[in-house]
Amino acid sequence: MMLPMKRSTEEIITITLSASGALAIIPFAVIRFFRGELLMGCIDIFLILGISSIGLFVWWTRQVRIPGMVLTIFILSGLVIIIYVGGASLVHWAYPTMVAAFFLVKPREATAFNLLVMVLLIPALVQEISRLELVIILATLILNNVFAYVFAARMSEHRQHLSFLAERDPLTGIGNRRALNASLEDIIVRQQSQNITASLLVLDLDHFKDVNDNYGHGKGDQILIKVTEIVSSKVRVADDLYRLGGEEFVVVALGASREAASNLAEQLRSSVETTELLSERPVTISLGVAEIKRGESPEDWLHRADAALYEAKRTGRNRVCLAN
Ligand code: GH3
Ligand code: MG
Ligand code: MG
Repeated sequence: MMLPMKRSTEEIITITLSASGALAIIPFAVIRFFRGELLMGCIDIFLILGISSIGLFVWWTRQVRIPGMVLTIFILSGLVIIIYVGGASLVHWAYPTMVAAFFLVKPREATAFNLLVMVLLIPALVQEISRLELVIILATLILNNVFAYVFAARMSEHRQHLSFLAERDPLTGIGNRRALNASLEDIIVRQQSQNITASLLVLDLDHFKDVNDNYGHGKGDQILIKVTEIVSSKVRVADDLYRLGGEEFVVVALGASREAASNLAEQLRSSVETTELLSERPVTISLGVAEIKRGESPEDWLHRADAALYEAKRTGRNRVCLAN
């Protein structure tokens, strides 16, 4: 499958952190070699090569979870090593390195790694600095971690909430077109490996413009919500309901053949027709049904269901039509 062109935020963060980390160490490697401190110079070169290799790995493979974990362990181990070899003055590197961990792994994981590193650093620091200086360093490192944790946890909460909102229809609370696209892509991929079947039911309210014109947009909205409730109550949990836009909805019936989906469509049609949504006249829906064909794209599948819906409209409305 083709990878999407746009890089995810996680990819960009991991690549940027590894590039800036590697670049930041280069001048120090040069200075170490100039001063004849070969061991520290070699450690710096090792860190530069390791960090940039992980960054390049992310660039090429587009994976982030495992490389992020490896990079975190690598830079934190590097931090411990340089402080043991180069002395307590290098503890300043602990601050940005520990913050970087929060960008690379989950907040709890970063906290656990950083606490372990603090414990490992104590024996190295205690030899060189006073007790008071050690307490100040530990206290500021802990504060650094607390602030980074709060920030990272809030960011992750916001991102989850935003991606939830981005896939939700505000009026009915069901999935929107973006969520439908994701679900269809997922089914197409699963169909290729697991040989499952699935059908799409596209449904559209009949003469809905008249309903709006005669009863007002507010009443129209209430009917859309009510129809969502009726359809949701009839479909199985595995059958997802989405609002495609306007007064058009899609049911994704996983595992349903053309016949099973057609029975479901008929049930939906009659349930809406027999529910009293307006006292003066029935509200009805038309449906188009299409079972997935091997190798077809989500767009083609949806298009066939849409064409069947158009056929149902053309031949009188309040009916179900099946795609070929
Ligand atoms: P058909 O039977 O051919 O589907 O006729 P129709 O009137 O339902 O179809 P048409 O596409 O001409 O009109 C759709 C109407 O749906 C137009 C618009 O007023 C209404 N509509 C679309 N979105 C909303 C919405 O969010 N709320 C309300 N109340 N009405 C909506
Ligand atoms: Mg309509
Ligand atoms: Mg319509």
